Amino acid sequence: MPHRFRPRAHLCLPVVLAVCALCATAQVAPSAPPPVPAAAAPLYPLITERSKAIEQKVIDWRRDIHQHPELGNQEKRTAALVAAHLKKLGFDVREGVAVTGVVATLKGGKPGPVVALRADMDALPVKEQVDLPFASKAKAMWDGKEVDVMHACGHDGHVAILMGVAEVLASMKDQMPGTIKLLFQPAEEKLPNGEIGGSRRMLTEGAFNAPKPEVVFGLHLMSVGNTGMIGYKPGPILAGSDAFKVDVKGRQTHGSQPWGGIDPIVIGSQIVMGFQTIESRQVNVTKEPSVLTVGTFNAGTRYNIIPDEVKMSGTLRTYDEDMRKFIMKRMEETASLTAQAGGGTAHVHFEADGYAPTVNDAALTEKMAPSLQRIPGGKAELVQKSTGGEDFSFFAQAVPGLFVLIGSTPPGKDAAKAEPNHSPRFFVDEASLLIGVRTLSHLTVDYMAMAQK
Ligand SMILES: [Zn+2]
Ligand SMILES: [Zn+2]
Repeated sequence: MPHRFRPRAHLCLPVVLAVCALCATAQVAPSAPPPVPAAAAPLYPLITERSKAIEQKVIDWRRDIHQHPELGNQEKRTAALVAAHLKKLGFDVREGVAVTGVVATLKGGKPGPVVALRADMDALPVKEQVDLPFASKAKAMWDGKEVDVMHACGHDGHVAILMGVAEVLASMKDQMPGTIKLLFQPAEEKLPNGEIGGSRRMLTEGAFNAPKPEVVFGLHLMSVGNTGMIGYKPGPILAGSDAFKVDVKGRQTHGSQPWGGIDPIVIGSQIVMGFQTIESRQVNVTKEPSVLTVGTFNAGTRYNIIPDEVKMSGTLRTYDEDMRKFIMKRMEETASLTAQAGGGTAHVHFEADGYAPTVNDAALTEKMAPSLQRIPGGKAELVQKSTGGEDFSFFAQAVPGLFVLIGSTPPGKDAAKAEPNHSPRFFVDEASLLIGVRTLSHLTVDYMAMAQK
């Protein structure tokens, strides 16, 4: 019944931390996690020690990438850095996947499952305002314009973390009971022209073929949590994210004589209100929530002219594929029938580059929760879902996936007041990188160990 949550608003990936004592203690987070799986036990102290030994290297990679951020599908320098490092470690490396992506595999000395690990590489068109010696001064072309570029979502950290994981796991390759497949992904933040890139394109270009992974793990640095926080949740953790446009057509007339035309502004306004009642009246709110926001509404040129048309755009956030499809269908019906009633027409167009909800496989999450609870320096917490979106969702649709959130606000600072991801003042406490390296390393080795007969 009444569980107590601590909700926190957030802009980019608005995580609402949910410290639910009942769930946390009774279901997923026992106070003393079970012992390390037998086959992983000898590797456990090695991961602790070797991740610490390369911590400065990981920080240096992150600073270098931070100073040289690259936008979606332009991550050439980052990809080259990654590929050179992986080749040196003995990985089998495939470059140029989905434009700039890198897919690399390393077979352990013992037989076992294939585990995929993902890091996104792209930066954002944001002008950095953090006072750091390695702050970005980079510029690039984006949508036909020159823009400032910044790693304002922590993807620089994700790349450095996965390079670190590669080094830690390669160092224990002979004892590793399975194969690791690393996915360095471009264009998570979408492409300017609506082109489909990122994880979906990597999948269509064979990222999950030969060998096909059994599971996929990923993480995201989040300023909404303090360093040490490892946020996880079974089921949907991030929202499906769909951009849409609505075109309403009426007929122009003088503002003093509306009966002489068809007013698309009144029709458009009714559509906006109709959209809001889809969620409040037509979907089962106990299943999953959803958000439908009309963010632009443009019409008209003059105060006394009823214009010909209205153009709107907005975003839909959902957590369940069936609900996503249902709401999309109802939006189309609401728009066209409302317009018809007013004598006009309306069409809803959903962009093809929408993201599906990111859903953590419930069984995999339950299986791996003890690994998260054992991470040295970490504090695993159940979190509530966020309305942010991620294209990790498509990897997690292809095979069971687990996506975790890594707190990156320095200890002692109020994470609720930290600058959110995507802010020009977004700041990453570099101590969180070690937590990230350990999280992915332990998840990998523990999963492989649990698959041993
Ligand atoms: Zn982002
Ligand atoms: Zn991101």
